[in-house]
Amino acid sequence: LFVDTDLAAGAALTLGKEQSLYLAAVLRKGVGDSVVLFNGRDGAWLCRLTGDSKKSVVLEVDEQIAPQTRPSDLWYGFSPLKTERLDYVIQKAVEMGAGIIQPVTTQFTQVHRLKPEKLAANAMEAAEQCEVLSVPEIAPEIGLDALLSQWPQMHGDRVLVFADEGEASSSPLGALQNLVGRRIGLLIGPEGGFSDSERERLRRLPFVLPISLGPRILRADTAAVAAMAIIQATIGDWR
Ligand code: SAM
Repeated sequence: LFVDTDLAAGAALTLGKEQSLYLAAVLRKGVGDSVVLFNGRDGAWLCRLTGDSKKSVVLEVDEQIAPQTRPSDLWYGFSPLKTERLDYVIQKAVEMGAGIIQPVTTQFTQVHRLKPEKLAANAMEAAEQCEVLSVPEIAPEIGLDALLSQWPQMHGDRVLVFADEGEASSSPLGALQNLVGRRIGLLIGPEGGFSDSERERLRRLPFVLPISLGPRILRADTAAVAAMAIIQATIGDWR
């Protein structure tokens, strides 16, 4: 469970209403039970419930059970999707190792009203679930043109892997294996794909690597998971 407070042996802390209800009513934790907490800076800590009212659970911090991990350095840029698919894509991105997630609007992006706090809450829930001890960053929404113009200044030598269904080369494995040790970004298009002019611009940029994910057109959410799996298998984990 994520808490935004310092964690140290012997400390006592009282959770807010929502987390207390979650522990007491959903996870059915009571006095004497253990819970693992993290705050994104001090690793994972084993804690014991010492008070279990549904409105305010009180915990005593026992011992550190895992050191802090480095946040993942994989940048993932996605074009906003409809709510249900958006929830899926954020959850899967965190599970697959994305550490920085940024909404990128493109010509064919259809969903324009994102709630950053909801994206952050989703990402946090996924981090808790898959035991990522750092807090995934949700970067502010940006237009594709601005992203590409600013890329070298903002990202240095990070390579932008661009999932392009028009890419002729059938396998991305060789090209990705050449990127071992490099910082990586992954860009996936909206439901309607990138426009021809966007694709042409992307393909001309020196820091962009277009990759194919196979001969079929994947849904944007499937493409994200497939691309991250291939990147992880070829380049390795990016912790
Ligand atoms: N209409 C579907 C949807 O609702 O999601 C398909 C959208 S597909 C055009 C969305 C994005 O997924 C593309 O812009 C591209 O980034 C990626 N993509 C899909 N299939 C791909 C493939 N075979 N190879 C590479 N990228 C692919």
